Amino acid sequence: MVIGVNCGHAVSGTPGCGASGYLDESIETRNVGYEVMKELRKRGHTVYDCTNDNAQSTNGNLTAIIELANKQSLDLFLSIHFNAGAGQGSECWTYGGRNWDEARKINHNLARLGFKNRGIKDGSNLYVIRMAKAKTVLVEVCFVDTKSDAERYIKVGVSKIAAAICDGITGEKINDEEELTMSQYDELKNEISELTETVKLLATELHNIKNPMIYNYIDDNMPEWAREAVKWAVDNNILKGDENGLNLDDKDLRYIVLIKRLISSQKTL
Ligand SMILES: [Zn+2]
Repeated sequence: MVIGVNCGHAVSGTPGCGASGYLDESIETRNVGYEVMKELRKRGHTVYDCTNDNAQSTNGNLTAIIELANKQSLDLFLSIHFNAGAGQGSECWTYGGRNWDEARKINHNLARLGFKNRGIKDGSNLYVIRMAKAKTVLVEVCFVDTKSDAERYIKVGVSKIAAAICDGITGEKINDEEELTMSQYDELKNEISELTETVKLLATELHNIKNPMIYNYIDDNMPEWAREAVKWAVDNNILKGDENGLNLDDKDLRYIVLIKRLISSQKTL
């Protein structure tokens, strides 16, 4: 294959440079991109470096990239980026959101390294996707401003990430219904255990609603905050029980407390 690879943006700190957070996009697109180029060449492909390091502006950087990409005929143009905006995971952008094999496989392979698969997005409005003559995939490896993504990126390392991208371009077709990665499995397990907790709480609440607590006597069973008011109500004949006792539920307790407060406040008026 003949592949053009672009390390997204101008170099860090210059006009047209990338985003930064826990990672610096301009630096990491170069770390990953040059590793991708090396690996693709090793696998026998022809690679054109379509990276522009310095420009007068963002627009200047973008036009320079497209000039480099359109200079020759390519089987694929790959632009490497990192995302920003505090999301999580990897995604690929294609013209019209086309479901190119390469884009799907890159997403899939990065997900196997533990990055959330954000899918394929419609990049028709992105300059490099709109202007490149060749089939173009723009990959956002992960988020520079999300701590967990940055930590995962550093932990996994550039060479595995580059290999995942190369496998996406040159590798075998994938089975999309493959097994979960370990981190996806852990995530799922956490979600399930959180949901189980919520269900338990809801079940307890439902049980309480169906079987309200009944207070028949002014004893230790009655909540501390209501005891004085109930005693006052009984002492003043406002409240009378039957042979079973007072037969009060939680709502009754609250009303009695309110009534006592109301009467006490009127006395002081
Ligand atoms: Zn970017």
